[in-house]
Amino acid sequence: MSRKKIEVLPFASFPHGGRRLLGRPKMGNGSSRSGYGLSLRRMTHQTVCAYCGLDLFGDYHRWLLLQVDHVVPAGVARGLEIPAKFYEDAINLVLACAGCNGFDNRYTYTVSLPREWSAENFADLRDIVFAERAKRIDIRRAQELAVFELAPWSRDVDDPQLSDHRLPEATTVLDITELENSPARVEVERSGHPAHGQLEHL
Ligand SMILES: [Zn+2]
Repeated sequence: MSRKKIEVLPFASFPHGGRRLLGRPKMGNGSSRSGYGLSLRRMTHQTVCAYCGLDLFGDYHRWLLLQVDHVVPAGVARGLEIPAKFYEDAINLVLACAGCNGFDNRYTYTVSLPREWSAENFADLRDIVFAERAKRIDIRRAQELAVFELAPWSRDVDDPQLSDHRLPEATTVLDITELENSPARVEVERSGHPAHGQLEHL
């Protein structure tokens, strides 16, 4: 398997390091695999899952796993009054495999919001959200791997070793205070699309 540990943010491969707006990907036929995901690939040069590094174009089975992830979810961005031109831009979109994209779907951030959104400070928020989520997905992948290594298909479903590896609910609370001005608490629940966001000003 050509998985590699992601040590740099995927945005490094984007034009201008993903810190200037690139425009929205073309929707094409509306599919991530044969429509907007391909447009995103052309615009940003991504070919692998942003979280686990799986090459999503290597063969048919990988390509079937190809999804597009809004790093700052649209619902949350709307709650923060971030203009759509930022959160719908390619700089907020990464390719992800279905496995990683399905992990760690609930999280809470505390961030301080800028008075006015720019491509630069939106990219700062995106980098924080991406880096924190990537860490949590990494932990979740390690937990899944521990279960896989037990070869659960060769065991009885009541095997106590399997019960010892009950996977946690995908709920994480995070506090992030990286940006300046007007603190706000953002609660994010991602349960498919569209993402739901809640904003509570402190
Ligand atoms: Zn992945």
